[in-house]
Amino acid sequence: MPKLITQVGCPYCGASCDDIEVLVSDDGKKILETRNACVIGNEIFHHVSNPDRPKRPRQRQTDGTMKEISYDEAIDFTAKTLIKAKKPLIYGFGSTNCEGMSAVARVAEKAGAVLDNCASICHGPSFLAIFDNGYPSCTLGEVKNRADVVIFWGCNPMHAHPRHTSRYSIFPRGFFTNKGQMQRTVISVDPRETDTAKLADIHLMIRQGHDYDLFDAFRTVLRGYDIPAEVAGIKKEQILEAAEKMKKARFVMIFFGMGCTHTDGRNHNIDAAISLTRDLNSITKASIMAMRGHYNIAGPGQVWSWQFGFPYCIDLSKGTHAHMNPGETSSIDLAMRDEVDCFVNVGTDAGAHFPIEAVKHLKKHPFITVDPNICMASEIADLHIPVRVVGVEEPGVVYRMDNVPIQFKKVIDGPEGVPSDEELFDRIYIRMCELTETEPLWIHVKEHAKASSSQVE
Ligand code: SF4
Repeated sequence: MPKLITQVGCPYCGASCDDIEVLVSDDGKKILETRNACVIGNEIFHHVSNPDRPKRPRQRQTDGTMKEISYDEAIDFTAKTLIKAKKPLIYGFGSTNCEGMSAVARVAEKAGAVLDNCASICHGPSFLAIFDNGYPSCTLGEVKNRADVVIFWGCNPMHAHPRHTSRYSIFPRGFFTNKGQMQRTVISVDPRETDTAKLADIHLMIRQGHDYDLFDAFRTVLRGYDIPAEVAGIKKEQILEAAEKMKKARFVMIFFGMGCTHTDGRNHNIDAAISLTRDLNSITKASIMAMRGHYNIAGPGQVWSWQFGFPYCIDLSKGTHAHMNPGETSSIDLAMRDEVDCFVNVGTDAGAHFPIEAVKHLKKHPFITVDPNICMASEIADLHIPVRVVGVEEPGVVYRMDNVPIQFKKVIDGPEGVPSDEELFDRIYIRMCELTETEPLWIHVKEHAKASSSQVE
């Protein structure tokens, strides 16, 4: 009899839906059907049985071809490469669990590496603004139950987070929002007429790159001052109408995405958005939240802040203390200056996301990709190590975009012999300790890692 597993987490976007139901074959090896997932989430679950998925590490040979090697050989190569490197960079973590992130941090500290995550190329500017100005945020549950004016600024959840609007922000009936969408005013601020903008009650078609001006205009109006006839391409009447909706709301929610974080002004836009939220709190209740992209990209911010005091761009090469200075210790800047001599890409695709000049510099040195699937970073790598898929073949803790931790489940067994990210990096750590004749400092490193590592000659 097929088995139905409920309350499964979806390992794709930052909405981190945890209400997925998965029908699994009686032998527990195959996913037959998913329920509640959006079209992207459904595809993620079915993609694990892709026949082209690699099941063994592949190392590039001198003639340029890739040859399968054992996990022990791959671990040995990675450990030796990291020890030899003067300044390795370990980057990624869009798609793994917090246990894996913690295991990688042990390796990074041992290697004296720079440890960075995808926030470096997405919500990094938001972090800088939050450091400066605080983060008056809330949970998505509060949005569902309380928000009656919802603003989507530079984001398009209808495509990027397909169930965000139905689970939390527009359609659901909450405790104080029991009429669902009927009780909510939706405002979209976007230079394009996106599908989210089409759903909105008010679409402010902002002139691209002028977000700071519009935030300032709202703050000016809310403080009772006059504004010019047009700001950022938006007519004064429209600004006054939207500001009036905010003033009359019981709970204003501002969601912002890459369209706000990465246009002109960058962190200063988010700084202004936070200040607008603060201003609104002197009139009504308001909150703000970054639309984080991946299902656990809030995870490294939590795990590494706890371990090192910083969420991203963490330079551990000094050996005595962690140091963070975006621009100096951020992945792309390091790569563009050709300052790293080994690159480990974990659960992301730097090959596709980094500027080509940065990739060219990284490719001059050992380039290792850890990812369950074939991607551009795996195909240009000197070594590709496949791992189990978190949320499908491996359980673990993930942090949703509102920084709420969720325990994701395993629904089927992973391919035989393929380790999880955590297991792989624990084994690399133990191997590094063996090679440097030092004692592992972390007593919780798994026994399985010690056992398998000791088999490597
Ligand atoms: Fe998965 Fe995101 Fe779709 Fe939810 S909205 S099912 S987390 S892809």
